[in-house]
Amino acid sequence: MSEIAARIADLFTWLSTIVPALVTPDWAALIRLLPLFVAPVVVLWLVSTGGIWTLLGITKPGPRLTLGAAAPTAAPLGADGRPHFPPGRPYSTAESAIYPSGSTRSLAGEPLLIACPNCLAVRLAERSACDACGLELRARTPIRVGPPAPPPPGGAARA
Ligand SMILES: [Zn+2]
Repeated sequence: MSEIAARIADLFTWLSTIVPALVTPDWAALIRLLPLFVAPVVVLWLVSTGGIWTLLGITKPGPRLTLGAAAPTAAPLGADGRPHFPPGRPYSTAESAIYPSGSTRSLAGEPLLIACPNCLAVRLAERSACDACGLELRARTPIRVGPPAPPPPGGAARA
């Protein structure tokens, strides 16, 4: 019986050393350990947000840049029923089509014509300078910006 009492006394002795440490901890030592608890949280936050941004950059479809293809458009008809070709745009009279700026050949390989926007003199689109007034047209490669891909059907798309 005395052995049980000794065990109980040991338990109370142990509790009397543990409980004060839990109830009134050494705050100075804990504050010194604070960076050890905060640093992993900060690193975890940085890794998770960086990972999220990386995944978003990989998976989110953005605008697409495509080189403008030489897709001609039909020339609008004038009041006299003949096609009207605006000055400064290459055109083909055989196809009655207006080509994008910078085009020099039609889809069939025919040379395109262009009317000078300054003096309306018609020349080959391959020539950059107007023979009549000397106006030089410098065409750049057209770039089209396409819209981003639409969200998947079903209405559950996330932005
Ligand atoms: Zn001209």
